[in-house]
Amino acid sequence: MPFWSYNYWLILLIVFLRYLVMSVVAYLVFYVIFRHRWAFRKIQIGFPKGPDYRREFLYSVLTAFIFAGIGYSLFGTGLRNYTQLYLNMADYGWGYFWLSIPLMLIIHDTYFYWTHRAMHHPSVFRWFHKVHHLSTNPAPWASFAFHPLEAIVEAGIIVVIALIMPVHPLAIGLFLLIMILTNVFHLAENQLVCKPSSSLVRANLSICFLILFSTASFLF
Ligand SMILES: [Zn+2]
Repeated sequence: MPFWSYNYWLILLIVFLRYLVMSVVAYLVFYVIFRHRWAFRKIQIGFPKGPDYRREFLYSVLTAFIFAGIGYSLFGTGLRNYTQLYLNMADYGWGYFWLSIPLMLIIHDTYFYWTHRAMHHPSVFRWFHKVHHLSTNPAPWASFAFHPLEAIVEAGIIVVIALIMPVHPLAIGLFLLIMILTNVFHLAENQLVCKPSSSLVRANLSICFLILFSTASFLF
């Protein structure tokens, strides 16, 4: 068993530093150094206020504890025997290793789309998702700013991935790095990247990938 899976605090440190480093970099670049030069790129004219930053940061700290708790429970306890985590690169080869990263991104997009839609349902919105939408003018600090219940749902993607496909810890690390990078820079509210495709296209693609992966997970 790898050394990191024994230690909840090490996982917490990695999860929190990943959030902190990316948020600080994005904050410094978009909100301090190039605040005026790139102001025209910002979607909203104003900048968030102190209480917004504090709320987003505090909820993000709470989320880091939850993410680390779920990561540790899944990979650091007996539950790991139910996952398809592998440590020996030779088991599936480098080709699969590199393929597994875009596969995780596709599965995540599907998962995020449907869980996000579900959390917008009026009967559960205030219990799960309202906190995230308090950030009406989000800063880079908002990438982890979820209600604890939503944090559990968000962390569920790692559970899904680990159950349905063979995955190496390094691939999970790279996947999570891409996730936090896109989240932080998206929430910096600067129009540097392409707009996402329409929700209809995403919904259809999501259904296709859901069918594909459910079939694949039964076959293998
Ligand atoms: Zn939403």
